[in-house]
Amino acid sequence: MDFARARTEMIREQLILRGINDERVLEAMNRIPREKFVPPDYRAYAYDDAPQHIGEAQTISQPYIVALMTQSLKLKGDETVLEVGTGSGYQTAILAALANQVYSIERHQALADSAREVLDELEITNVEVMVGDGSLGWSVRAPFDSIIVTAAAPAMPMPLIDQLTESGRIVIPIGAHSDQMLEVWERRGAWHIEKICAVRFVPLIGECGWK
Ligand code: SAM
Repeated sequence: MDFARARTEMIREQLILRGINDERVLEAMNRIPREKFVPPDYRAYAYDDAPQHIGEAQTISQPYIVALMTQSLKLKGDETVLEVGTGSGYQTAILAALANQVYSIERHQALADSAREVLDELEITNVEVMVGDGSLGWSVRAPFDSIIVTAAAPAMPMPLIDQLTESGRIVIPIGAHSDQMLEVWERRGAWHIEKICAVRFVPLIGECGWK
């Protein structure tokens, strides 16, 4: 399987043609080997236009959704980012390429361990992964310039708001179990909320998520 070619095609057909235009996001996604974050049985499908199974009944998000969420954070390179829902670690690796420091929380130990393993193999050192309930944020590492939640919440978890910097941004899917709206919350004095598109994510399970 020619993964480099599959990656180039993914960038053109799934991202650029759908309007992803942040050069830094495109460059990072063209460089990070997505196949490494997918279990061996699914590796041939790593660049498909779809989510893939990663174990523990969880998924690695569709490439377009990873790009869209990342682009919406408008990262410049000096930010501290909190990611809730490490999953495979693929989104984590993309964030690490675009920000100064990434803190990522995953509730499944096995997923956190395998994500850490791949991140280490790729020599990505500006990431700290923790096992825990990310709906509560990570108060000892706060404040965060950007927060990305890669699981669906019934409503905005309030601890995340409290852990954001004054001009910070949060991207998060909010809605019912079956479908949600991808929202970007930005503090500009008052909150500015942009609804980007309909999505379907696995649930955010936790104290400030689904019980
Ligand atoms: N961005 C990930 C990737 O690229 O592989 C996909 C993440 S997957 C769609 C959502 C992840 O959120 C799952 O791994 C799930 O276990 C995790 N999750 C759900 N609720 C959580 C919580 N309260 N705290 C931390 N992780 C949580």
